[in-house]
Amino acid sequence: MTLFDTPYTVQVALDVPLDRCFDYIAPAPLPIGQRVVVPFGPRQLCGVVMGAGSLEPPAKLRPIQTVLDDLPPLPTAWLDLVKFASDYYLYPLGATLFTALPTRLRQPKAWQAKTDPIYRLTEAGKLSAHCSTRAPRQQALLDVLRQQPLSLSHAKQHYPTAAKLLEKWRGQGWVSVEDTATGEIPPLALGPQPPLTTAQTEVVQALQQTATGFSVTLLHGITGSGKTEVYLRRIAEVLAQGKQVLVLVPEISLTPQLEARFRHRFPHTPMVSLHSQLAEGERAQAWVAAWQQQAQLVIGTRLAVFTPLPALGLIVIDEEHDSSFKQQEGLRYSARDLAVWRARQTQIPIVLGSATPSLETLANVQSGRYRYLALNQRASGAPLPTVQLVDVRQQPLDAGLSPPALAAINHRLQQHELSLVYVNRRGYAPALACGECGWLAACPCCSARLVWHKPQQRLRCHHCGHQQRIPPACPSCGNVDLRPLGQGTQRLEEVLQQHFPSARIARIDRDTMQRKSGWDELLGKIARHELDILVGTQMLAKGHDFPALSLVVVLNADGALYSASYRASETLFAELTQVAGRAGRANKRGEVLIQTQLPQDRLYQALVKHDFQGYTQHLLQERQQLGWPPYCYQALLRAEAPQLATALAFLEQIYQDWHTQGEAYLFPPQPAAMTRLANRERAHLLWQAEHRNQLRTVMQALRPHLAQYARAYGQGLRWSLEIDPWEA
Ligand code: ADP
Ligand code: ZN
Ligand code: ZN
Repeated sequence: MTLFDTPYTVQVALDVPLDRCFDYIAPAPLPIGQRVVVPFGPRQLCGVVMGAGSLEPPAKLRPIQTVLDDLPPLPTAWLDLVKFASDYYLYPLGATLFTALPTRLRQPKAWQAKTDPIYRLTEAGKLSAHCSTRAPRQQALLDVLRQQPLSLSHAKQHYPTAAKLLEKWRGQGWVSVEDTATGEIPPLALGPQPPLTTAQTEVVQALQQTATGFSVTLLHGITGSGKTEVYLRRIAEVLAQGKQVLVLVPEISLTPQLEARFRHRFPHTPMVSLHSQLAEGERAQAWVAAWQQQAQLVIGTRLAVFTPLPALGLIVIDEEHDSSFKQQEGLRYSARDLAVWRARQTQIPIVLGSATPSLETLANVQSGRYRYLALNQRASGAPLPTVQLVDVRQQPLDAGLSPPALAAINHRLQQHELSLVYVNRRGYAPALACGECGWLAACPCCSARLVWHKPQQRLRCHHCGHQQRIPPACPSCGNVDLRPLGQGTQRLEEVLQQHFPSARIARIDRDTMQRKSGWDELLGKIARHELDILVGTQMLAKGHDFPALSLVVVLNADGALYSASYRASETLFAELTQVAGRAGRANKRGEVLIQTQLPQDRLYQALVKHDFQGYTQHLLQERQQLGWPPYCYQALLRAEAPQLATALAFLEQIYQDWHTQGEAYLFPPQPAAMTRLANRERAHLLWQAEHRNQLRTVMQALRPHLAQYARAYGQGLRWSLEIDPWEA
């Protein structure tokens, strides 16, 4: 018996790594964007209807099993974004679409929205609520309820254990409960806001001039200049018009702080945050809330760029230069670039904010595509920190610390001020070495050294996760005196504690900040003046505001200046500018000491003079002369296999066939900078072109043949294509 008599066929996108959609027989004409369940081989998969199939269905087509009409069809604008991403990054449509969907909605089953009951204050509640509760946060929840009914999920954002409390109040007759969400957007309410500085006022006014239609504005504001306050003012205006706002931030660790600030400013605005640490169900819930316009404000990391927002009125990207906006696996997209496309598509403004804008964005300003606005002073009026270089070639070092650095830390300790020692290495020491024969502990699976982690007494690879015990003697010569080489955060913490026994020291790196509450605890301790010295990695350079910090000491940054990556100087300059900007924010002149062996380097000289413009101009000129991005367009074909020869042979074959095709320049195959990773050998092919179209033409022509090429090299060969690679 056939399920359907009518011969409708539809094209369905599936989460499979194939470059096409699949035809199925539908029970009725289905709308585009409809989620369905279909048989695929022996499996059942979730699919999304992308269009009508062929008119006369061939007999072998199988019928759609279930139409998942639990949710409306995915919106057209969202599907357009997915199609664009698939087309631009030359990634299969189905796989792109399913990357953009939250995991929970990728499954072949109906979406069950959690019931989100609405609580409303009763007359009795209005009378008795005020005097009957003393806890300030409970009172705050009551105050919000006094203005408007609240959904449970919204109430939880104000008060984590709201469920219990609301039920208690219901028992007391203070609140009544209704089943469904109203979907009504409450009128905008504003929390307290500081008067703007003159510079901020000018920037806000300039942004108001491009309040409608598509525009891209770079807001270049030094750390602490009050960029966030500017976003908040613009966002308030957009929310007041009943529109939605998308705010992208680089780090999950930054979202709670920012969320709290937004919640404080927009106490009644339904808001969701979207990042990879949310549980599957929570993420889908937030995603659907944004889509159904039950959430007006969305804060998220790069994947949030794919949130459907039917009433989108403004996009803000904070720290636009940050590399975490680039996805490094699967669909290798840039959330910043997709957001700009989305703003154009929606005809709305987008604001890119940073203290250290990327060279791409600066080049777009110079070519007139992006508008430039600047905040050159700190909102608090505090002066920028003094930056001094310590030439370590002329200093005796104690585990990496120079006498001037130790003296400066000591001075701040006397003054009861907070210092930060910044080193971009977690672990105890980045290497373990034999002083007799020169042996270095290396990862058996990667072309990398093993890092010594002292608390666990283990050696760990930071690339593949391999770990092993510390050998009792040198495996090569038997010498038992194996020594740490270089400094990691653990070793610095140890050495600083020896120098300053009474100092309260906290280490901040991926090892200590694994728990969700890590940042909360740390920020609490800093606020209560329970810490004297922070030892930390790059994690500390990003966005966090440490009001009491007055000294920053930077160790071992020179490495980047020897790097083969053309981006290394740009990245290091941004990182050090950011970390230096942490010093002296609260009306205290900050001090930054950078230990280096290359004090004459242009990068350090620019840091001393706070010359962001000069140095980035220099880098841009260099890139232009050498024909590197942003003055060219690149695509990278990566290959990896158990043997390097296999990866290279595959690439060589393509090189031979394609290096004379089209107008893009194709470099010969190259082993990757880190050739071996997790037991696989890696190599790549790089295309470069002056115009994007030249690159696109050749990549589009090549793309359909890649699977065919790969087939000749066996199962062990894997390849991926990256458009606008971050690094080549
Ligand atoms: P940025 O995002 O540029 O680093 P923020 O917006 O976080 O800067 O502002 C830095 C600090 O200055 C914050 O503590 C903020 O509360 C404060 N601030 C910002 N704007 C003002 C203002 N107009 N008046 C007083 N304080 C302000
Ligand atoms: Zn040895
Ligand atoms: Zn490894």
